[in-house]
Amino acid sequence: MTLQHLQQADPQIADALVDELQRQRSSIELIASENFTSLAVMEAVGSVLTNKYAEGQPGKRYYGGCHVVDIAEELARERVCKLFGARFANVQPHSGASANLAAYLSTVQPGDTVLGMSLAHGGHLTHGSPVNFSGLLYNMVSYGVDPQTETLDMDEVERVAKATRPKAIWAGASAYSRIIDFKRFADIAHEVGAWLLVDIAHIAGLVAGGAHPSPVPYADIVTSTSHKTLRGPRGGFLLTNDEELAARIDKAVFPGSQGGPLMHVIAGKAVAFGEALQPEFASYAHQVVANMRAMAQAVAAGGLRLVSGGTDNHLALVDLSAANITGKEAEQLLEQVGITANKNSIPNETRSPFVTSGIRLGSAAITTRGFNEDDAAEIGTLISNTVFGRDDRVVLQKTANRVADLLAAHPLYPEL
Ligand SMILES: *Cc1c(COP(=O)(O)O)cnc(C)c1O
Repeated sequence: MTLQHLQQADPQIADALVDELQRQRSSIELIASENFTSLAVMEAVGSVLTNKYAEGQPGKRYYGGCHVVDIAEELARERVCKLFGARFANVQPHSGASANLAAYLSTVQPGDTVLGMSLAHGGHLTHGSPVNFSGLLYNMVSYGVDPQTETLDMDEVERVAKATRPKAIWAGASAYSRIIDFKRFADIAHEVGAWLLVDIAHIAGLVAGGAHPSPVPYADIVTSTSHKTLRGPRGGFLLTNDEELAARIDKAVFPGSQGGPLMHVIAGKAVAFGEALQPEFASYAHQVVANMRAMAQAVAAGGLRLVSGGTDNHLALVDLSAANITGKEAEQLLEQVGITANKNSIPNETRSPFVTSGIRLGSAAITTRGFNEDDAAEIGTLISNTVFGRDDRVVLQKTANRVADLLAAHPLYPEL
């Protein structure tokens, strides 16, 4: 990677960038929320658009000289609407959490009751954690997964909604491996007179590629990140079909919760949405799901239990009890053989969130690198071999060698 100017001006940071490229190249990336953007996206993000203030909306800015960045934001909005079949979009949120803040601000008042999926069962911090703004500002109540099936029990969601009468209901998760029934969520929200907010931060790429049902026909507001399965730059966006809500969302983002938008990132979002509109992206999304299924089946065949018994999307949660190892230990052990994954609480967790009894595996990033089902299945086997064979140096060395072979067969950013 040539960083001509940076190397000269700031060798410490230049070295950190080079080291990070090397790190990304030399491990099998299974963190379910990560992906590798195209070089085109990175060119847009690393551009002169970072210099521009553009508070307001395209055509209605508080600063002069916005006619060029307006082109980028108009394209981003048009493309994301087309991609998800939505009427209105706001592409300015700096992150998924910021998009969610805007969704709260456009629908509920501080102190109102809001229902979300429990963090311990796979929900997100912004859906009601007491240490997050959501838990601090709103009266958050939660639903979880069924203790037996470890899947969402929609009758239970309905029961909790009727008992707590929320003003808004969140659907969507960060660590849930099954299809979410958005229509049923909408029926429940209508029955109790609540807004339905659907957060597709994790599955946006699958929805865009037709590999997971879309919430857009059912939700009042859909929020998302652009950088997980959707494979764009780090950021967030909101969608709605309701014109009045669209106006409220725009106000909730600016001036409600943000100042100037990151125009360089918005340009990168436009590029990524354009990429996701190509037919190859649908193939990518389906391959992500096929790869995850193959990896999960191999992990299970190796003797570890899958939470909920399997996966329908880009991630799987693995219960490590059979190997008598914690999530924290497994995360460190896998890193030693070149596999990056994160420890994760499992339903009915008995350990602290810093230790946990599970790991979360994801297939979005390796699929971008070109891994197929056979490769993914082999990774699953390597994972179970590693956790069960952790005291056998020969097993660990063999695994590290196979990891290196797999990485060499699928080079990352060879152009850099
Ligand atoms: C990742 C995630 C977010 C937050 O996105 P950030 O960009 O990290 O703020 C919000 N909701 C869900 C469900 C997520 O998984």
